[in-house]
Amino acid sequence: MLDISYASPKPKVIAGATGDWELVIGMEIHAQVASNAKLFSGASTQVGAEPNSNVAFVDAAMPGMLPVINEFCVEQAVRSGLGLKAQINLRSAFDRKNYFYPDLPQGYQISQLYHPIVGEGEVIVEMGPGVARRVRIERIHLEQDAGKSIHDMDPNMSFVDFNRTGVALMEIVSRPDIRGPEEAAAYVAKLRQILRYLGTCDGNMQNGNLRADVNVSVCRPGDYEKYQASQDFSHLGTRCEIKNMNSLRFIQAAIEYEARRQIAILEDGGKVDQETRLYDPDKGETRSMRSKEEAHDYRYFPCPDLLPLEIEQAWVDDIAASMPELPDAKKARFMADFGLTDYDANVLTAEVDNAAFFEAVAKGRDGKQAANWIINELFGRLNKDGKGVADSPLSPAQIGGVLDLIASGEITTKMAKDLFEILWNEGGDPAEQAARHGMKQVTDTGEIERALDALIAANPEQVEKAKVNAKLAGWFTGQVLKATGGKANPAVVNQMVAAKLGL
Ligand code: ADP
Ligand code: MG
Repeated sequence: MLDISYASPKPKVIAGATGDWELVIGMEIHAQVASNAKLFSGASTQVGAEPNSNVAFVDAAMPGMLPVINEFCVEQAVRSGLGLKAQINLRSAFDRKNYFYPDLPQGYQISQLYHPIVGEGEVIVEMGPGVARRVRIERIHLEQDAGKSIHDMDPNMSFVDFNRTGVALMEIVSRPDIRGPEEAAAYVAKLRQILRYLGTCDGNMQNGNLRADVNVSVCRPGDYEKYQASQDFSHLGTRCEIKNMNSLRFIQAAIEYEARRQIAILEDGGKVDQETRLYDPDKGETRSMRSKEEAHDYRYFPCPDLLPLEIEQAWVDDIAASMPELPDAKKARFMADFGLTDYDANVLTAEVDNAAFFEAVAKGRDGKQAANWIINELFGRLNKDGKGVADSPLSPAQIGGVLDLIASGEITTKMAKDLFEILWNEGGDPAEQAARHGMKQVTDTGEIERALDALIAANPEQVEKAKVNAKLAGWFTGQVLKATGGKANPAVVNQMVAAKLGL
C-alpha cells in the first residue's frame, strides 16, 4: 500500500464582474472493455471489420433471442474496480434503459442503474510533485454500447453499422471532485493509465475506445466546502453535461468555454438550464443538444431476460491476487529503489511497456544512468521515428550492454552514443560492435602522459596561466582528448593534468 500524503491543489478560479467563481466538474467515462466478444453475445468486437459482419442474432435483437452474460467482461469490470480501490458488489443487476434510436435495434440499452457491479472507489490525480487531487468514484456499471449511424456516405440516405452494438462498456462515474480543466484532463489520463495497466480497456481515445461525458457547474468560493461537509448538492450550481469527448485538449477547452458561458448567464441575473450539450471543436463552443433527461424518462426496469448477477468473494479474491503493480506503486518503487526523480519516474511509468523496458535495463545497474539513457537517447530516438518501445530496434539487453561498457571503462560516454547509433542501424552485440568499430577508451596512461608532456612543453604560457587560475587547466584536458581522438577518459586526463601542473 502507498503511504504518500499529498497537498491538495487549489481549484480554478475565474474572476467575474460580480466576484470570483469556482469550477466543479464530475465525469462519466465510457471505457470499452478489452474483450474479444461482446457483453451478451459471442460476436467479435474487432474494429475495422466489414460493416454488419460482427452481429449475432441477439445483437440485432431478433425476436426470441436471449442475452447470455460474458463472464470475461464481468471479470474485467471487477478488475477495474479493484484497480480503483473500489467496493465490489457481489450482487448486481441489469436494467433496461428504454429509448428509440436507429442504431439501437433492441429499443433499449441493457445497463445497471440500481445495482452496479462496482461501488465507491477513488483515483489519485497528481498535479505536481507531492500535489494531488483525490477524486471519488461513485460507481462503475456494465452496459452495452450502441451501433453507429453513418450520415456522410450518401446525400440522400443514412446507413447503420451494428458491429459495435452490444460491445461491453464500463461506465465509470466520478463524484464532482474535479476542480479545473487541467485536473479534468489529468483525471482522464490517470484513469486511462490505470485501465491500460490492468489491461481492462485499451484506452484508444481517437477510436472512441474511451470517451468522457463532462459535467460542469460553477459556484462561489466556499460553496464547494459546504457541499463536501454535507454532501448536499444544493450548495452547488446547476450543471451542464458535455457529451462524448474523446480528446484531452478538447475536454479542457470545452470546460473553460462552458464555465464562462454559465458565469455570464448567472452574472446577468439568469439561471443555467440543466441540459446536455455538445462541444464543437471548430468553433470552440458548446451548444445545446437536448434538455436534461431524468431516469424516469427512460422507464428503467429490471431486465427480465437476465437474472441478477451473483459473483463469489473467492472469485473476486482470485482476481485481486492476480492484479499487476499499478502506476502509483510502480512510480514510488522506482523513486525509492532506483533513486529516480519524480519527473523521470512519471515518464518511465506512463506506459507499462516503458516501465518494463526500463526495469530490464536498470536491473543490477545504475538506475539513474539507465533512466537517462532510456528517456534521452532511446525515447528521443523512438519519437523521431514515430515508434513506441514495443517496436524499438534496440532491446533492453543491448542498451544494458552499452551501459556495462561505460561502467567498466571500456568506452567513453561519447563513444557510447556513437555505439547506440550503430546498434540502432546495424543491430548486434554491443561489445562486439564496439570492438569492430575500434571503440576503445585509452586506459594506457602512458599514451595520455606522452600527449600531455608534449603539450606542456609546447605551451609554457598556458602552463603559467593554469597555475594562476586552475580553471584554465581544462584547456590541457581538452587538447589531450583531441590528441587521443576522444578515446581517453576525461576524468583520468583531468587527474593527470592536475598532477603534472601541481594544482
Ligand atoms: P445523471 O445520471 O442524471 O447524469 P448523476 O447524479 O449520476 O446524474 O451525475 C452524473 C455526473 O454529474 C456525476 O459524475 C456527478 O459527479 C456529476 N455532477 C453532479 N452534480 C454536479 C454539479 N453540480 N456540478 C458538476 N458535476 C456534477
Ligand atoms: Mg449520466
